[in-house]
Amino acid sequence: MNYISVEDARAYILKHFAPLEPERVPMLEALDRVLAEDVISELNVPPFNNSAMDGYAVRAADIVHAAPDRPAALRVIGDVAAGYVATRAVEPGTAMRIMTGAPLPSGADTVVRFEETSEGVETRGTGKDRDTVEILKAVQRGDNVRAAGEDIHAGEVVLPRGTLVRPPEIGVMASVGKKEVAVHRRPRVAILATGDELVDIDEPITPGKIRNSNEYGNAAAVVRAGGIPIRLGIARDNIADLTSKIRAGLDAGADLFLTSAGVSVGDYDMVKDVLNAEGAMHFWQVNMKPGKPLAFGVLRGKKDVPLLGLPGNPVSAMMSFEIFARPAILTMLGKTRFERPTVQAVLEESVTNTANRRNFIRVRVEKRDGGYVARTTGEQGSGILTSVSRANGLLVIPEDVTLVRAGDRVDIQMLDWPEW
Ligand code: AMP
Ligand code: MG
Repeated sequence: MNYISVEDARAYILKHFAPLEPERVPMLEALDRVLAEDVISELNVPPFNNSAMDGYAVRAADIVHAAPDRPAALRVIGDVAAGYVATRAVEPGTAMRIMTGAPLPSGADTVVRFEETSEGVETRGTGKDRDTVEILKAVQRGDNVRAAGEDIHAGEVVLPRGTLVRPPEIGVMASVGKKEVAVHRRPRVAILATGDELVDIDEPITPGKIRNSNEYGNAAAVVRAGGIPIRLGIARDNIADLTSKIRAGLDAGADLFLTSAGVSVGDYDMVKDVLNAEGAMHFWQVNMKPGKPLAFGVLRGKKDVPLLGLPGNPVSAMMSFEIFARPAILTMLGKTRFERPTVQAVLEESVTNTANRRNFIRVRVEKRDGGYVARTTGEQGSGILTSVSRANGLLVIPEDVTLVRAGDRVDIQMLDWPEW
């Protein structure tokens, strides 16, 4: 057995991953993925000078002295709504009613809001039929006008490759007419639970058996990370079954293999033998708790496929996924950052770490009195899956720290920010 630090194991593993090749997708399917091309705008956004307000398009020179007691009277020569183009120009001494988003008529350089005109202070009518309007305030030339190209210039790289696509980026692509876009392909992640003791969720539990929870937890974690899970079911602890299920995963085009269980010291399981026969594997003792046993290697198929052998204990499997599998999936998606956001919280109870390993304590963070407080989610054993369920963050205690005291300020890595 080889002992290894969390950093060394992660660095070794991540060397085997790179962004997957791009694929062109309808732009909306790019959500939560990373652009593999620059998005360049062919047009100005907005495409023409237009009004930012409902009001009157005027020539600033006509209203330089306007004030409530000295209004500037202008002849109203028409009306222009969004989506239409004025057929007349605004000449000196005239104004045109204009709606938000309507193109600025030629001759006009400024828009005065209704509220700053006689129309805004009157209570009757729409103002549509009026012949003149009084401007009550001098505004700066160009006020309330959105200039052509003020958001995006034609020819500009509006979203560089490497950008993570969120709803605003979807909106930007729509505004420049980008129907399809190249993003990195989502990784296909084969998930294989191993063990003679496992039964699936729709089978009866018989003596000595437990339910297979890892497959489902891992599949959900893969989806959350942005991958596509390929569920291979349960492989029994025998060479034939393990081998055939691994080959099925390779045939299904897996980019990453995730197994659970069978990688601990002294394991009776066949998993190690089979993995070694199918590829070149390391079996590690990672200096972390939970999640000490871990396997990593490359399976030889039509292409080489990295395999991460997660521990069997459900909490260990989830933590090892978080530390090793999630960054691998994010890397394949083209993402370059995988640290979780952290908050500083006051720890509400003392926590000990006597194992000399890096301890990932499941905690629940809450906001209280304008700050954050954290407490453990109770029993931290590696079989207590509900301790992960109750948690929204991780307190990571370094290997050489034996005690973190109640009242200490600690950094918590947030796994989730539930909106409740
Ligand atoms: P192992 O790594 O095979 O020694 O398994 C460690 C522990 O994890 C044992 O108690 C197993 O029964 C349990 N375990 C293994 N696989 C799963 C699974 N898919 N779902 C839930 N528990 C599991
Ligand atoms: Mg086992």
